[in-house]
Amino acid sequence: MNDIQMLIAGASANATGDKTFERKNPMDGTVATRAPAASPEDAVRAVEAAAAALPAWSALGPGERRALLQKAAVALEAKTPEFVAIMAAETGSGAPWAGFNAHLAAGILQEAAALTTQVSGEVIPSDVPGSLAMGVRVPAGVVLGMAPWNAPIILGVRAIATPLACGNTVVLKGSELCPATHGLIIQALQEAGLPPGVVNFVTNAPEDAGAVVEAMIAHPAVRRVNFTGSTKVGRIIAQTCAKYLKPAVLELGGKAPMVVLDDADVEAAVNGAIFGAFANSGQICMSTERFVVDESVADNFVNKLAARAVGLPLGDPRKGPVVLGSVVDQSTVDRCNALIDDALAKGATLVCGGKADSTLMAATVLDHVTADMRIYHEESFGPVKPVVRVKGEEEAIACANDNPYGLSAAVFTRDVARGFRVAGRIESGICHVNGPTVHDEAQMPFGGVKDSGWGRFGGKAGIEAFTELRWMTLQMAPRHYPF
Ligand code: NAD
Repeated sequence: MNDIQMLIAGASANATGDKTFERKNPMDGTVATRAPAASPEDAVRAVEAAAAALPAWSALGPGERRALLQKAAVALEAKTPEFVAIMAAETGSGAPWAGFNAHLAAGILQEAAALTTQVSGEVIPSDVPGSLAMGVRVPAGVVLGMAPWNAPIILGVRAIATPLACGNTVVLKGSELCPATHGLIIQALQEAGLPPGVVNFVTNAPEDAGAVVEAMIAHPAVRRVNFTGSTKVGRIIAQTCAKYLKPAVLELGGKAPMVVLDDADVEAAVNGAIFGAFANSGQICMSTERFVVDESVADNFVNKLAARAVGLPLGDPRKGPVVLGSVVDQSTVDRCNALIDDALAKGATLVCGGKADSTLMAATVLDHVTADMRIYHEESFGPVKPVVRVKGEEEAIACANDNPYGLSAAVFTRDVARGFRVAGRIESGICHVNGPTVHDEAQMPFGGVKDSGWGRFGGKAGIEAFTELRWMTLQMAPRHYPF
């Protein structure tokens, strides 16, 4: 069992009254982690520690911040074996997913290190004679980051890396489902030598989330908020941020369509489909959640997809590397089983997989899914995937857009100009032609439209999100005044 602590002002911290909560292993119910259950006052202490560390951190030259972030990348990736064990215990995910998480998260820290010299500005021509006018990017202040459990290292690091590169100090609120995984990120940053208070870490019991989060957002030192999680909680965060006038980056749910047009290379599409739909058992915000397939190639696509899906390694992630480990909890099993029941009752056909009786869920494909079925609209966030058959390009685009979410999407066609045209009409923040819906790189602008959220992480877009743009002038000649 992992017994963890928070980090406030560079020191390990328990919650007031030593209050704790437990995260249980989703496979066998044993206690995976015991973590502090912060009170709102504890969380405010973390914000105040970040505020105290802000002047020195924001005044550091970019080279010093860069060196520390580079060290953090190395320290984090060196912990890969520990991450593999902790993620298997807390979230049930397989070793390949944990290893990929550690590798990409290290890349996010490297990219953040490189961004330290890109926090710049511009000289803007002024109408006032002798006025040197500039738009200057400066740190925003304390940034509160909140990350989920499903890609815990990537999303935990993403919540704080670019904010730190920009000269902000941070508080990371860990997920109740993987507090030790998020805590290990913080350990790596500490080992890299980040000064006390620059990074702070808070964990809370699930029932306290609302009060703890509001206390931090309300604090005057917090100038930016970012949240990755469900659209349902994202709306609550947005409302709280509105109440205190705090800008927020919100990376929320998805229902990514993968459009397979009549001229697609079906083999290539199936390869993209298998990866995009079943990596981490479909528990990725970019997971392919709908196959939108032209009826002329649908039989071929579905047969090949099913043949690959049934062969995916499935099992206890603690016993060896698997593609399909345990899903995060029984509620995922119940939700997916209900979606299967609903679709089959309304005329869908089960191509492979089926209802699960444990958190080890098989890759499941439902064919002939229609708009009256829940799985057409709702995020399964598990390995249960619908095929919707459409006739022609217009129907495919209409189906892809027939959803409140808009995070990632993909289009498969041999005609690349057509692919780009269709991609241009899909309402999503991210769209790949002849590539899977699941694709993340540290330097890319990452984010959604519609109910998938606001704002962008990644590369220069991240600098915009986590800095203020100030107008500053220097009057270099006598100034003329009207009176
Ligand atoms: P969740 O929204 O249920 O939980 C996220 C966090 O919200 C929790 O840590 C909890 O502390 C907090 N929370 C709960 N109630 C709150 C309240 N009343 N006030 C303030 N905070 C509260 O999400 P999850 O189940 O952890 O993650 C899965 C979801 O995240 C999926 O919908 C997935 O699509 C989405 N996601 C999005 C992205 C992206 O980049 N767009 C990435 C990964 C996951």
